[in-house]
Amino acid sequence: MLEQAGYVRASGDDPDDADVVVFNTCAVRENADNKLYGNLGMLRPAKRGRPGMQIAVGGCLAQKDRGEIVRKAPWVDVVFGTHNMHSLPVLLERARHNAEAQVEILESLEVFPSSLPSRRESTYAGWVSVSVGCNNTCTFCIVPSLRGKEKDRRPGDILAEVQALVADGVLEVTLLGQNVNSYGAEFGDREAFGKLLRACGDIEGLERVRFTSPHPRDFTDDVIVAMAETPNVCPSLHMPMQSGSDDVLRRMRRSYRSSRYLSILRRVREEIPHAAITTDIIVGFPGETDDDFQATLDVVEQSRFSSAFTFQYSPRPGTPAASMDDQIPKAVVQARYVRLQALQDEISLAANRALVGETVEVLVATGEGRKDARTHRLSGRARDGRLVHFAGDASVIRPGDVVTTEVTYGAPHHLVADGTLLSHRRTRAGDIAAAGAAPRTPGVLLGMPKIPTRG
Ligand code: SF4
Repeated sequence: MLEQAGYVRASGDDPDDADVVVFNTCAVRENADNKLYGNLGMLRPAKRGRPGMQIAVGGCLAQKDRGEIVRKAPWVDVVFGTHNMHSLPVLLERARHNAEAQVEILESLEVFPSSLPSRRESTYAGWVSVSVGCNNTCTFCIVPSLRGKEKDRRPGDILAEVQALVADGVLEVTLLGQNVNSYGAEFGDREAFGKLLRACGDIEGLERVRFTSPHPRDFTDDVIVAMAETPNVCPSLHMPMQSGSDDVLRRMRRSYRSSRYLSILRRVREEIPHAAITTDIIVGFPGETDDDFQATLDVVEQSRFSSAFTFQYSPRPGTPAASMDDQIPKAVVQARYVRLQALQDEISLAANRALVGETVEVLVATGEGRKDARTHRLSGRARDGRLVHFAGDASVIRPGDVVTTEVTYGAPHHLVADGTLLSHRRTRAGDIAAAGAAPRTPGVLLGMPKIPTRG
């Protein structure tokens, strides 16, 4: 959007180089506000030295703090929220013209972010939103109050964006929504997500389809079957569990129970035997007893996740859980967290070791392996989402190329393949990466179709 408005990317990270600095904030992270105000404070001298420079703050924290941001940091020029990203160029212009801060926060989404023009960082992988917002009310989560009710994008628009990316050489697409399984509820088709996966299967050149996040409550059998029957849908599933205790799930206002959760995993493995299943787990939710935590350990043991993102609960102001009684002392949360991680590491390690000797197809990535230069390896993701560090010649293999290789070692968080490559396929994404270009989706900035509001 900014490029279309005539801006060009500043040469470095030094704010002294930039005429415009934009903070895109996330309120899900702990201490997001301290970090934002700390960063804004650091920019103050640059702004003083160059009054024409502009600072904009957008995203969830802007949606939450609104005018508070310019009260606390009066040197900020523009505040925009989660529903009006498209207004940024106009707000910058108006702030400059009127010489005063512009704060614009809308209560509901006007334009899908995906229909805005975008420049992609990756030549081989792209994210495509299917919906934004969430109709659930999990008590620990700030998303519903900041992102609003779920808005579903039309299947035709989604597929057109996927097709545009694939035409630009992209091989892998991740469909994105807070709860992809309720996709379609807004336009009255409960099976819309499964249909979308199948439609992605018909797109020639699209090699890998992933999605995140599903929700155990809405995850239906038709999606599992669509995954199994659509060859380019990857055998991986990220299924947020949050807790293994039914009591905690109830207090989290997550309306499934552990038995339902485990039955979904069973069904997925029946249909897709090699699916790598990952999850999110919160430890130390208010009122979590030793028995509740043990229930989580039990479910983790049974679930055999390939990996888990584990979080220590910490209250997010503005969420119901933040004011619940029985907040768990930090030391208890920490001790449980360490135990859970140790268990999951053991499970991940066993699963990864079992893959030694297997052939994996790897989509070569940029910058996934920090030690790669030292170890003379390259990195990428297997079809099931596992990170693979493999021996290969960086002068011939480019990000976006596809290789097959044999796993020689399994660690808890990655696989190693140190043998000779079994194959190397040069792709258009690799050619484009080597040429230093990246896909751009032009979007439709003028006359943008408005999202119909619900009656
Ligand atoms: S489903 Fe996800 S985004 Fe929605 S409220 Fe729950 S945790 Fe938040």
